[in-house]
Amino acid sequence: MTDPHRQREDDRPEERQASRPGPAETSLDVGAATLEGKRSQPAKPRKPIFELSGVEVAYSGKVAVRDIGFDIAMNEITALIGPSGCGKSTLLRCLNRMNDLVPGATVDGTINYHGQDLYASTIDPVEVRKRIGMVFQKPNPFPKSIYDNIAFGPRVLGMKGDMDEIVERALRRGALWDEVKDRLKTNAFGMSGGQQQRLCIARTLATDPDVILMDEPCSALDPISTGKIEDLMLELRERYSIVIVTHNMQQAARVSDMTAFFTVALEDDGHRTGRMVEFDETQTIFTNPNDERTEAYVTGKVG
Ligand code: ADP
Repeated sequence: MTDPHRQREDDRPEERQASRPGPAETSLDVGAATLEGKRSQPAKPRKPIFELSGVEVAYSGKVAVRDIGFDIAMNEITALIGPSGCGKSTLLRCLNRMNDLVPGATVDGTINYHGQDLYASTIDPVEVRKRIGMVFQKPNPFPKSIYDNIAFGPRVLGMKGDMDEIVERALRRGALWDEVKDRLKTNAFGMSGGQQQRLCIARTLATDPDVILMDEPCSALDPISTGKIEDLMLELRERYSIVIVTHNMQQAARVSDMTAFFTVALEDDGHRTGRMVEFDETQTIFTNPNDERTEAYVTGKVG
């Protein structure tokens, strides 16, 4: 397996731009059109917000993922893709210490967040989850009003400022304000599934995070609602760093800047564990991957 850190250090952005394949060479099933916009974007220097190295997660001593090393940058959308059970959600949950809440889960290796060890004893997991929000597969609003859903986190955290302004700002950033401004006091369960999911995104934004983790956020939504969430993700990228687990290859190709591909490997001792095969620019993963396992997956030859 290639070391993704070294690979990027040796590989200057201008050279990456120059060496990218043209549309005629792209034969994978997401199509050249999906990836076309990515090529025209100027390469900016990446600013890592998370640096992972040698990360291994086990449940009750059974290793679920091992040897994970890559970094996640500011103002980028990073997709985690791979077959079911390869450890994508497990890894995502490490990034805001949600695995602390899973009985029997242990995390080894290093995860630095803004250069600090996320798992150091001095780090407060509640503060971590304020800075690193999470959105789940199924929209999970609280059985409260739209307003109270958004205000919940800021109130619990004792955030200073005018609550009406905090709520409005979060709903605007969640691309929901115009749809709900006249019914803020109504129950969130009266919203459509897509609106509920945007409410859940807005709820994470209310506590001023810098990272949003999304675990298959569109899998319960129709294509129109999915499109709205994808548009929102692209807007949010300007201000936040987003990490998304998705089973939808087209979605990964459409929205993400970088992609990590994972697989389930059969170890010498007969156990199956999740491993990262490759981490690179999304365009490279989908058009010119390094590893044949990645190509087989993104072209749909193996599920
Ligand atoms: P993915 O998100 O890629 O489908 P998961 O992270 O859900 O993969 O699972 C990776 C492995 O860890 C699987 O073998 C799964 O059974 C196991 N696993 C996930 N969550 C738990 C848990 N809470 N307790 C025990 N094993 C778990």
